[in-house]
Amino acid sequence: MSEMNQYRLATKALHAGQQPDATTGARAVPIYATAAYNFRDTEHAANLFALKEFGNIYSRLMNPTNDVLEKRLAALDGGAAGLAMASGQAAITAAILTITHAGQNFISSTSLYGGTWTLFTQTFPKLNVEARFFDPAEPERITELADENTRCVYLESLGNPKNDVPDFQRIAELAHARGLPVIIDNTVTTPVLLRPIEHGIDIVVYSTTKYIGGHGLHIGGAIVDSGNFPWADDPQRWPEFCAPDPAYHGVVFTEALKPVGNIAYIVHIRTHLLRDMGGCMSPFGAFLFLLGLETLHLRMPAHCRNAQAIAEWLCEHPAVEWVNYPGLPDHPWHENARKYLPDGAGAIVGFGIKGGKAAGVKFINSVKLASHLANIGDAKTLVIHPASTTHQQLTEEEQRATGVTPEYIRLCVGIEDLEDIKADLDQALRASQA
Ligand SMILES: *Cc1c(COP(=O)(O)O)cnc(C)c1O
Repeated sequence: MSEMNQYRLATKALHAGQQPDATTGARAVPIYATAAYNFRDTEHAANLFALKEFGNIYSRLMNPTNDVLEKRLAALDGGAAGLAMASGQAAITAAILTITHAGQNFISSTSLYGGTWTLFTQTFPKLNVEARFFDPAEPERITELADENTRCVYLESLGNPKNDVPDFQRIAELAHARGLPVIIDNTVTTPVLLRPIEHGIDIVVYSTTKYIGGHGLHIGGAIVDSGNFPWADDPQRWPEFCAPDPAYHGVVFTEALKPVGNIAYIVHIRTHLLRDMGGCMSPFGAFLFLLGLETLHLRMPAHCRNAQAIAEWLCEHPAVEWVNYPGLPDHPWHENARKYLPDGAGAIVGFGIKGGKAAGVKFINSVKLASHLANIGDAKTLVIHPASTTHQQLTEEEQRATGVTPEYIRLCVGIEDLEDIKADLDQALRASQA
């Protein structure tokens, strides 16, 4: 696998993490549909349970199909290790709760996916875990919000649906100055458009349901650990990794894992939250996500090209008030988009329709090619009205903070023929004004 590091992204997307099956010669990654694995003998079994040796025990903890996906995602992001989870929400939950316990807090951007917003504001408080919010336009707030009980900083690469492109390097600097790791949700951009670790981010989470799967087939999530955060430099602060662990009869994770790398964080998730709370990905899911990854580097540029063209076209449309796409020169985050997303500003295009919510409803009821549903990252063009659906549970003030206004329509531009997408949007926009 050593030459794998030298390969470029498209090659890694097809090969990283896999050795063709030695027994059968299977070229594709097989779906290992097995719940458990034979041990060689009792010593082997004991070593695996004690983390003295790595290997397969039980498919809640690890699975050979998932293993290829985990290694491939880590390779694409330039990380040290990956972990597959049952969904994006399971990945986000585990990524934060592994380092943030009852009585502690973390700092989050306000520009969040609706499900993440409710996780942070409704469910985490029940566990006595507090989210403190900052506007990504004011990253300096991180310094004021952090106290001795703060554990990490969380943000999204391209706010869904606000389309803000935070200054990742600045946020990482500010967090690191306070001794905090940064976790980013890179779902909307994927490693093809943004490799957050290259900008100083420590942990990357994904909903693989979206562009990585790419065809709207299956729910899944993943975590990638950069292997860069220096947990062992502050053992007082990170006892979960640096002090003897009672859940593993006194193993010190940072010490035990030193020979394989700085991967205490991600191994801890596998051996604690994944072991104890479940939330594992099925190997069938991993198979579908591996298939998706093989064409991700072809699909993302196609999504971005269509999205840029649709955004420019909407700007000229008489039924449109405003267009929100960071690839447009007058977008408030355009400079950051140029800096951080030179290969394309994603495929989510927001726009305000003339005639407000009523016209929005008519528009959505009139589209024929675009699908009206709650998802992003399908190869097909999708459309939704966030205020009445994905962000419905938020107050109007919270909706504004996450970028959702009553007239906001979110398009997730697919890879159909551009002229066919335009024609469909045009007929629906006309119908909305009738
Ligand atoms: C969909 C989504 C999630 C949640 O992922 P699931 O796989 O649906 O649990 C998290 N973050 C972002 C940005 C998303 O778009």
